[in-house]
Amino acid sequence: TTFNDLGLDPKLLAAVKAAGYQTPSPIQVQAIPHALAGTDVLGLAQTGTGKTAAFGLPLVQQLLGGHDKREPKGVRALVLAPTRELVNQIADNLIAYVKGTHIKVNTVVGGKSINKQVQILAKGTDILVATPGRLIDLMDRKAVRLDTATFLVLDEADQMLDMGFIHALRRIAPELGTPRQTMLFSATMPKQMEELSRAYLTDPVKVQV
Ligand code: AMP
Repeated sequence: TTFNDLGLDPKLLAAVKAAGYQTPSPIQVQAIPHALAGTDVLGLAQTGTGKTAAFGLPLVQQLLGGHDKREPKGVRALVLAPTRELVNQIADNLIAYVKGTHIKVNTVVGGKSINKQVQILAKGTDILVATPGRLIDLMDRKAVRLDTATFLVLDEADQMLDMGFIHALRRIAPELGTPRQTMLFSATMPKQMEELSRAYLTDPVKVQV
């Protein structure tokens, strides 16, 4: 299987080439066609498997093609991850994939000036990559609009579970737009993760590497 077989748009194929990826990883082969079709994805995969591109490429492609109905400044896709490091890593990948488009990627993480993040959000962002705690702080300040978001990615969800993530998700998910495509990635699948999947994903395709 090559990247040409996965249904990716020439723009994304160019981004893949620019990133130096030659062949798609197993999680990418399994997830990308389903994700492009709008199906929810439940992925059992560790870091280093190429899972960021597995959700990131289809996400960007759908935002490119999608009719942008939002009013200015609403977030179109929300990516939640447990740590600042992971948020930045994800954003770096997404920024490479959106190069040459008008799609804006921003991050909000704890431990950094919240006022600056409020200003950045006020200017508008398409893909917001965030740690749950800081996102809740920004929601409390009414600094972020999520009802325009129809894509949700939960990355390293098992790590987030240990950090009070369930409570955060119970607050965040109802704020998002509908219908929504949700992709959940986790290195392990404890019972709690299955409950999370049942609560927030609809008929997901399961991919595992
Ligand atoms: P991830 O598992 O998403 O953190 O990705 C691990 C690393 O592999 C990142 O540096 C990616 O940019 C890179 N990567 C992702 N997909 C591929 C691929 N198909 N071929 C080569 N490198 C890749």
